[in-house]
Amino acid sequence: MTAPPHEAHPAGPGRALPDTQQGMRRRNLARVMHTVSAEGPLSRAAVASRIGLTRAAVSTLVDELIRTGLLEELGPERPGRVGRPGSALAVSARGPAGLGAEVGVDHLAACAVDLRGQVRARAVRYGTHRGRSPEPVIEQLAALVRRVVAEAEGEGLWPAGLAVAVPGLVARDARTVVRAPNLDWHDADLSALLPADIPLTVDNEANFGALAELWLGEGTPRDFLHVSAEIGIGAAVVVDGLLLRGTRGFAGELGHVPVWPDGPACPCGGRGCLEQYAGEKAVLRAAGLEPGEDRVGLLAQRAEAGDEEVRRALRAAGTALGIALTGAVNLLDPEAVVLGGALAGLAPWLLPSLRDELARRTAGPACPVSVSELGPEGPLLGAAHAVVRAVLDDPAAVAERG
Ligand SMILES: [Zn+2]
Repeated sequence: MTAPPHEAHPAGPGRALPDTQQGMRRRNLARVMHTVSAEGPLSRAAVASRIGLTRAAVSTLVDELIRTGLLEELGPERPGRVGRPGSALAVSARGPAGLGAEVGVDHLAACAVDLRGQVRARAVRYGTHRGRSPEPVIEQLAALVRRVVAEAEGEGLWPAGLAVAVPGLVARDARTVVRAPNLDWHDADLSALLPADIPLTVDNEANFGALAELWLGEGTPRDFLHVSAEIGIGAAVVVDGLLLRGTRGFAGELGHVPVWPDGPACPCGGRGCLEQYAGEKAVLRAAGLEPGEDRVGLLAQRAEAGDEEVRRALRAAGTALGIALTGAVNLLDPEAVVLGGALAGLAPWLLPSLRDELARRTAGPACPVSVSELGPEGPLLGAAHAVVRAVLDDPAAVAERG
């Protein structure tokens, strides 16, 4: 699979460059950027040997990347090191930065990540958005983004793009929130509400969470299912390092996979969906707890303290997750299932029943289930890194704008 899944996502990775001499030069610039980003600091000679171009060709590319501020020279390599001395190259810690933003049901967040992957500015605002119309919420988000941009600019960075994670279905135009049930948003075009001078991508939070896992997770495979939760349950399917988006961009709605076909009615119109058993509301109800501020923290705290009712509710949620995931695993044969978002914090009590159910029901050896270390930060970081990756994937396009 190559570029098509990302065509409608201008700040997403994997854009195809034309097969012309110009396209070749741009591809080679990208190869240099990716190599230095992954393995730097590196000398020009080391870059040349990594990507199989002559040292002269690499020098021309490197000079261009230094001129446009995407790479920097760290000065002569320390004496005493083996090999010829040369100036070590590193990805610039100034210049373009990726802006990530997140619309949560109970919070808004924004951050700026530099090309080295470091978070350089960050802002969060708490407060529920349930039932609020998109306009005032996005206005507050825009204010957070502006605050982060001002802070980043103070450190010599400028925004190369903005990616926004939302808890809902996003059309393939990467602008329109078609449906966000927990916010009660329908067909909201966010591009009209956000700063027009920064290239924008909007995507489902589960997708950005999965990309964060792919790019930042320790030893994450290139074929995996990422399951996450905030209020609802979402999943993202990563195939050979790319998101599987589906025809309309709605792939991954694991929360609405039926677990018991005659179960309780779900707002989606179905019955007995996974969310009715393993969604936050359902688990709180089963545990006899009231929805409050830090719901996941409360569940974890009670389970930790040995509250049998809470533990039973989480075991049941794990079983329901195991049943729903059995369908997905049998269909897609991923290398692993990764639990992220709020689910990661509850993993100790969800995992045993989830694994049992999955092992009992899947054909062949059970698919390993692991827990994300990024936790609730995943979608925000994934969004910012999507912009950073787009810069590494086509540095020439960004240099033209800078
Ligand atoms: Zn449903």
